[in-house]
This record gives sequence, C-alpha cells and structure tokens, in this order.
Amino acid sequence: MSTSPTVRKGSIFKEHLIMKHDALIVTPGKKIRLKDFDPGSTGKYQSKDEAREKLEADTSRLAEYQDVLYAQNTYALLIIFQAMDAAGKDGTIKHVMSGVNPQGTQVFSFKAPSAEELDHDYLWRYHKAVPERGRIGIFNRSYYEELLVVRVHPEFLHTQQLPPETLTKDIWKRRFSEINDFERYLVHNGVEVLKFFLNVSREEQRRRFLARLNTPEKNWKFSANDVKERACWDDYHQAFENVFSHTSTKWAPWYVIPADHKWFTHIAVADIIISKLKSLHLKYPTVDKDRMQELEKAKQLLEQESQ
Ligand code: ATP
Ligand code: MG
Repeated sequence: MSTSPTVRKGSIFKEHLIMKHDALIVTPGKKIRLKDFDPGSTGKYQSKDEAREKLEADTSRLAEYQDVLYAQNTYALLIIFQAMDAAGKDGTIKHVMSGVNPQGTQVFSFKAPSAEELDHDYLWRYHKAVPERGRIGIFNRSYYEELLVVRVHPEFLHTQQLPPETLTKDIWKRRFSEINDFERYLVHNGVEVLKFFLNVSREEQRRRFLARLNTPEKNWKFSANDVKERACWDDYHQAFENVFSHTSTKWAPWYVIPADHKWFTHIAVADIIISKLKSLHLKYPTVDKDRMQELEKAKQLLEQESQ
C-alpha cells in the first residue's frame, strides 16, 4: 500500500492542503499490517521550511473554524491520539492547537486508572471527558488503551474487578464492538470523532529516547518504564493492528500518521482536522426578528450616549 500523500488538484482540499487523506486512512473492515505504512513519509513535502507556511495557515484556519463551532454550539469534535512512547503526541497537540481559543478546547491525558475509576465500567472515565457541544476535546491516550496496554499486559485486566464469567477469550472482540457502538452513539449525538495513530519507527524512538537521556532539559521526559514497554514493541504493534482492523469505521476512521518527522506529523494532523471541520458546514447562528430589534435598540441607546 502506498503511504505517500500526493497532490490532489481540484479537490475540496485544494485551498488548504493538497494531500490525499485516503493514503493515511485505515479502510473500514480491512485488515492492515503496520509494516505497510512508512513512518518516514513526508508526502509531497521535502523539508520543514516548506511545510512551515502551510502549518501557519492551517493554524489560523483552525482558529476560524473553532470560532464557528463554538458559536453554533451543535457539534463537538473529539480527537484521539494513540502512539508508542516518544512518537510526538504532546508536541503535535501543542503545535496544532497553538492558535485556537483555549476556552473552546479541552485536553485530557489518560494514565493508569485510579481506584475510583476501576470501580466503574471501563468507558466511564472517558465518557465523562467527552467534549461539550461547541468544543474541541483532545484525548492524549484514550479508551483504546483498554485494547492496547491492557491486552499486552493482561495483569491490568485482573485489576478491573470484572465478573469472572466476562473474562473469556472473546473479551477483546466484545470491547471492539462496544467501542464502535459508543463512537456511533457519540456521532449520532453531534460528537464527531477523529482518531490518529502517530506511527514512529523503532529506530526513531531509540534516537528520541537517547536524546531525552543525553539532554538535561529533556531528562524529565524519560521514564524507566519507557524502555520496558519498548521491549514489547511487537506485541504493541500487533495489538494496534487488531485495533485498526476492528475499529476503523465509516463514522470514526483511524488515520495512521507518519511520525518520524515531527513537522510532517503536525501538518498532516492539522490538515485532517480542518477537512473534518469543513465537512460539517458550520454556520454562525442567525439572529431572529425579535432579537434583531433588541440589538437595534441597544445600538441606538449606545449611540445616543456619545452625543
Ligand atoms: P509521555 O509521552 O510524556 O511519556 P505518556 O502518555 O506516555 O506521555 P505517561 O505518564 O508516561 O504518559 O504514561 C501513561 C501510562 O498510563 C502509559 O504507560 C499507559 O499505557 C498507561 N495507561 C493509560 N491508560 C491505561 C489503562 N486503561 N490501564 C493501564 N494503564 C494505562
Ligand atoms: Mg510515557
């Protein structure tokens, strides 16, 4: 499968982005292998400098869309990021969302669940964090961890206090379909869902870990657990492939984003978010006759004051 986005002239994407999303999307129902996706791809872009202008333009466009999203107060956008460690989730969130009004966005980072969270069904803590209408909500890790870290380390499953009769081999299959249903429910209620997997290569992860160890200002980012998890690389990739094959749906598709070049990750993600917002045909609310008269009255009062 080719992973290089190409120029798509005359498409709805023309004005802002010029790359083919089809190359990054996981076709619903299709079994995929991550080795067929190139983490080093940069599409039609040769360099960071070339991409800078596009990211700047996209950042301000995103701010414009977010303003209408907020004003219309009908849709919300949930953006999910999943990845191996050091793939650049934090930096992508920082760069892509840098221009938007903080009042209209929310970021939740999900770590290992607390005792209170473990006392609830597994979707509880995530459902509570779903963005309100008019907002963009970001999940830095998400309920997909329930099919990733929990699958790679089944001992986590045993801390979840589940009834023993539910701990059967088909638990993952059940979770796939529960999550698909949950996302369909969200979409039916106005919450659009975008899911990004930042696809970093094993070698690039090694380089980034070494940079964290060798640079004093980056030391804090390194955790001994990161190396332990790296040792499970193949198990994680297998779990990811399973997730993509079962939970990329028409209503909430997965995008596999090349992540060896951070600048490309940023423009690709920004681009897809903008296309999604554009597809919603957002509109500022219009003012009815009564309200218009009210505004007119207020205007007259204010104008009289200055005379
Ligand atoms: P960074 O990129 O800065 O390291 P991070 O997202 O990796 O950020 P950490 O605090 O390093 O944040 O790690 C969070 C940890 O929580 C991960 O190892 C993840 O697998 C784990 N985690 C998240 N959700 C669950 C869950 N449902 N059950 C068990 N562990 C979880
Ligand atoms: Mg980490």
